[in-house]
Amino acid sequence: MTDSRRARRFWFVTMGCQMNRHDSARMAESLRAAGLEPAREAGEADVCVVNTCCVREKAEQKARSAVGRLAVWKRGRAGRRVVVAGCVAERRGAAWLADFAHVDAVLGPDRLGELPSVAAAPPTRELPLVATGFTAGGPGDFLDARPDLAPPGAGAFVTISKGCAEHCTFCIVPSVRGPLRPRSAAEVVAEATALVSAGARELTLIGQVVNDYRHDGVGFADLLRRVGAVPGLLRLRYTSPHPRFVDGETARAHAELPVLCEHVHLPVQSGADEVLRRMGRRYGRDDYRRAIDLLRRARPGLTFGTDAIVGFPGETEAQLEETVALVREVGFTQVFSFTYSPRPGTPAARRPDDVPPAEKARRLQRLQEAADAVADAWRRGRVGATEEVLLETPSDRAGGTWQGRTRHNDVVHVRPAAGFAPSPGSLLRVTVEEARPHCLVGAVPAEAT
Ligand code: SF4
Repeated sequence: MTDSRRARRFWFVTMGCQMNRHDSARMAESLRAAGLEPAREAGEADVCVVNTCCVREKAEQKARSAVGRLAVWKRGRAGRRVVVAGCVAERRGAAWLADFAHVDAVLGPDRLGELPSVAAAPPTRELPLVATGFTAGGPGDFLDARPDLAPPGAGAFVTISKGCAEHCTFCIVPSVRGPLRPRSAAEVVAEATALVSAGARELTLIGQVVNDYRHDGVGFADLLRRVGAVPGLLRLRYTSPHPRFVDGETARAHAELPVLCEHVHLPVQSGADEVLRRMGRRYGRDDYRRAIDLLRRARPGLTFGTDAIVGFPGETEAQLEETVALVREVGFTQVFSFTYSPRPGTPAARRPDDVPPAEKARRLQRLQEAADAVADAWRRGRVGATEEVLLETPSDRAGGTWQGRTRHNDVVHVRPAAGFAPSPGSLLRVTVEEARPHCLVGAVPAEAT
């Protein structure tokens, strides 16, 4: 039985990338603005939003399973709503309704603004609703952050563009997130200012290809300067840039702006020229190296992370080894590696998927082991160093240890000195005492607190 006076509550199941987590946060704020409240668990909720990802086949299967399981949940109480949002919503549209009779709305990534009217009870619009297709990206066409409703943590994301103009042959993103549309610099700076005023200390500018930015004569490097000048901002990052758009202006921004952190996530996808050509990446191995050199010369000590795909159609053992060699040469401190899976409608899906699954798994392990060895060596080299760490959240329930990040984007678990009361956004000088797989452990010297 429900209390009709209580506010309706929402629950999110979010899949996939950082962009989707960011979209879910913005949708949650739009629901709060409409008077709904977050549920503590799914059983308490009246609205469940599954924010889906289709960048890999496995993620899409997970989305279908998650939506299927909600049939039982929906029957548990009258008035419940099931919303499918994000990339697979865009890709399958009304097919969701044909497959799952309990779905109330299907909202593509550009139509998330319709969520509050769907979540309300009784519905303010006819259900089921299918809203897909792309908007023009003009003023007000981005879901604004609402730090007044949901205070940001130590770090926050600011969208600077939607969609992508690149059309890499393996990637489904341009067909489900649309063409590139930049957000105006004024909107970006206003949102950055509001988030910092509400307590964010670190901002990450986000876009599918974040550095392919130009709006009313403002380029990416100019935008970094404008956001970097927001009073109170301690750290600035961006994700994900494309190697093709790393230019002298961006390098100069890294040289000039102390607020820009010394770590860049620069997806390479493969270290082999032939594979890069077939992926439609429009750069070669040497171009990638030049982009890394340009940034490192501008900001000595810069570290890099990357994304890589193994088992792309036609990839040979020798080509995999070229990727492994590049990982070692660049010394990436973070590598996110994936096995290739064909995505419908992409040019690569028309080629034979000729690397067998077991071989893809072996290649993934080969690359990951090489990448882990490089990253482990980097972290071992930090032991004894003093790092600036921005605290984010408690690492344990008791709050005795806190998790934060260095400027190089390494996760650090920190034991604050006795008598020091940590909080999200505290900036500490931490002595690194131990390197573990995927993180560092450190302590704050008593005299620093
Ligand atoms: S740059 Fe390539 S991989 Fe990245 S979103 Fe665009 S098409 Fe996809």
